[in-house]
Amino acid sequence: MDKKIPYKIYLDEQEMPKQWYNVRADMKKKPAPILNPATLKPVTVEELEPIFCTELAKQELDDTTAYFDIPEEIRNFYRMYRPSPLVRAYCLEEKLQTSAHIYYKFEGNNTSGSHKLNSAIAQAYYAKKQGLKGVTTETGAGQWGTALSMACSYFDLDCHVYMVKCSYEQKPFRREVMRTYGAQVTPSPSMNTEVGRKINKEFPGTTGSLGCAISEAVEAATTHEGYRYVLGSVLSQVLLHQSVIGLEAKSALDKYGIKADMVIGCAGGGSNLGGLISPFAGEMLRGEADYKLIAVEPASCPSLTRGKYAYDFCDTGKVCPLAKMYTLGSGFIPSANHAGGLRYHGMSSVVSELYDQGLIEARSVEQTEVFKAAETFARIEGILPAPESSHAIKVAMDEALKCKETGEEKNIVFGLTGTGYFDMVAYQKYNDGEMGDFIPSDEDLAKSFATLPKVD
Ligand SMILES: *Cc1c(COP(=O)(O)O)cnc(C)c1O
Repeated sequence: MDKKIPYKIYLDEQEMPKQWYNVRADMKKKPAPILNPATLKPVTVEELEPIFCTELAKQELDDTTAYFDIPEEIRNFYRMYRPSPLVRAYCLEEKLQTSAHIYYKFEGNNTSGSHKLNSAIAQAYYAKKQGLKGVTTETGAGQWGTALSMACSYFDLDCHVYMVKCSYEQKPFRREVMRTYGAQVTPSPSMNTEVGRKINKEFPGTTGSLGCAISEAVEAATTHEGYRYVLGSVLSQVLLHQSVIGLEAKSALDKYGIKADMVIGCAGGGSNLGGLISPFAGEMLRGEADYKLIAVEPASCPSLTRGKYAYDFCDTGKVCPLAKMYTLGSGFIPSANHAGGLRYHGMSSVVSELYDQGLIEARSVEQTEVFKAAETFARIEGILPAPESSHAIKVAMDEALKCKETGEEKNIVFGLTGTGYFDMVAYQKYNDGEMGDFIPSDEDLAKSFATLPKVD
């Protein structure tokens, strides 16, 4: 095997991006604007200011500025764990006996264990710069809460995390990592907020959902002086910050004259996928190149492949702005059987619009095959992948096996968003042969579609 390409392509520190790229600037048809739920009119920066930091509200609504300077303070933090490596998966290629060349961009090399730190540090920075006391947020699987706790402790900000109750109970170590970094962690739905009390009353014994934890965190921020709410995915500002992944991946490929044929990412709220594909999608939008871009989602929470493209609430409590996105309806609560993260009912409006325009394809995969791919990957490439990331591994392997049949030497790039050390309960289920698959029926989905608001 020709190994002129090193196993790990590292960029030098000075090659780390100095600007984030906003793919919306190159979209002729922009994502639909987010709406004020009270007036159904596009929200303004002023209307977002009670919820978000001002600078972040501006980024959220800016669909014309292509590049945003990354402040030096943020770049200094990035330097602790970036640039992240682009790894040539030689061992996996050999194992699969494929003619394809497989690369993965690994974002798990930091204590939080995922790409989420890229946006957490940016959001904490803008909160600090605005002179705020602290921020509130929700966390599902726990990676976002961990990343935000790290970012807040770095800038000496308070961090209140509403953690989906089933994760709070299933992942006590995640919780302790957050507390070690100084965060206050509350299981959601809690009795601390009006919306939490309401949901607890309506659904006694509920183990919570992301949408519900979001409502609680927003309420906590808007009712406490000096606090704002921050979100780890879905929002356009988060995709902007995550473009650092795609920009680095693109530079690393360019450094060795490699042209990607396909770029694959897992999709929960769409932030890592959006960030990874942004520079590639930008070239497509400008007519400079063509790529196959693939979003991979769980069959148990299939917002792109089975959802509706409609305005929806971003949270269960219906306090956030309405976003037009591929959605299962804010009332959708994924099966408790579903272990692999990626549980959000909707999808980033940027990713949704790119998908609607046909620039991105989407696949859904079942969790047992995802864990099978994770096991293969761990055993041959060494890294124990997060279940979320393993959705992308699964499809990258499928594509590599297709190349094996045709003998094509395609360059497959996928995002390995993080490590799975805190997901050992799920791995245990898989190892014990107790993991099943759950696919919602059309009737299940019809029920949650019925919760879509009537807009237009
Ligand atoms: C949060 C998370 C995801 C999914 O979130 P996106 O916003 O869709 O990127 C994927 N992988 C890991 C490891 C995560 O922590």
